[in-house]
Amino acid sequence: MAIPLLDLRAQYHSIKAEVDEAVLRVLDDGRFIMGPEMAQLEKEIAAFCGTREAVAVANGTDALMLTLRASNIGPGDEVITSPFTFFASAETIAQVGATPVFCDIDPLTLNLDLDQLEAVITPRTKAIIPVHIFGQMLDVERIREIAAPRGLVVIEDAAQAIGAEYKGRKAGSLGHAGTFSFFPTKNLGAFGDPGMLVTNDIELATELRTLRFHGCKTKYYHDKIGYNSRLDEIQAAILRVKLRYLERWNEARRERAKLYDELLRDTDIITPGLDRHAKPIYHLYVLRSRQRQAIMDRLAAAGIASAIYYPVPLHLQNAFKYLGYKTGDFPVAEEACEQALAIPCYPELDVQQQIEIANIITQIPD
Ligand SMILES: *Cc1c(COP(=O)(O)O)cnc(C)c1O
Repeated sequence: MAIPLLDLRAQYHSIKAEVDEAVLRVLDDGRFIMGPEMAQLEKEIAAFCGTREAVAVANGTDALMLTLRASNIGPGDEVITSPFTFFASAETIAQVGATPVFCDIDPLTLNLDLDQLEAVITPRTKAIIPVHIFGQMLDVERIREIAAPRGLVVIEDAAQAIGAEYKGRKAGSLGHAGTFSFFPTKNLGAFGDPGMLVTNDIELATELRTLRFHGCKTKYYHDKIGYNSRLDEIQAAILRVKLRYLERWNEARRERAKLYDELLRDTDIITPGLDRHAKPIYHLYVLRSRQRQAIMDRLAAAGIASAIYYPVPLHLQNAFKYLGYKTGDFPVAEEACEQALAIPCYPELDVQQQIEIANIITQIPD
């Protein structure tokens, strides 16, 4: 039986009536951009995260880029982030003209290694972008303690972590701002590719609302050069339906992760390492093994999807050659790129399927 990495059709069919009703409501209303659904979604996401403001934008990449721009970060500035993440975490730093600076990751959690963070801060450092990789938060409070005396901005890249917690506080709510992606495969996924950011800083939120709308506060009166970066009404209406299920779905993922942890215990497989204060949402369940290719081949032969996150660390990407990093600079991130493998972990996956997958991974005959 074929098992995908994620089953978005099954998810849609579990809430089809509500989603269809929401889409039809927008079609009938006739407002498609910057309307009431977006405004409501912003309120609901801010309430969910426990922040004062939420600002909807066109995608998670823009959420990061616009936040950097609104924080006046640009040429001559350095911004620190992880080399083990999706490209956008560092791409946006370069988009605003600043220089990405990497720092190695923690071998347990695969998040930034905070013991190494201070060593990469220079007088040019202006911001830190911690990434909650695969849906597990890192200790943002500790990052802010490092950042505060130096006046650094902390922007959480929470694209993979909506609903994740650290000491009971939600991802995105601990930095100066936190950014989300609603790309279809994220835990809260739209049927397109919108994004959002949350913040407690009202001034920052106002600046971002201006930037996303061609630099206007009032239509046709442009205070600055901005962008067209908005979240449309159909996506907002769909996301509002899905947001009601998010906690339930995240809990279902945690249960599935727990079962994998048990099934893969006492094997050579390294299962996801947890920070004891973190409550992850398992955007991906990523194991590590020196036998990665053999495991992938066996899974593929059984019709089970798996995927490498991430094949190349960011400091070794062609696009960042100009930064001058080389192999060996961040050994933990480099090893993770050689060993990490995501296996199916989503709410609609059942116990039998998980046992089948674990048996194939550990090569126990049925
Ligand atoms: C998905 C993702 C982004 C980018 O979000 P988009 O909505 O695809 O632009 C940024 N950072 C991380 C860690 C991501 O996983």
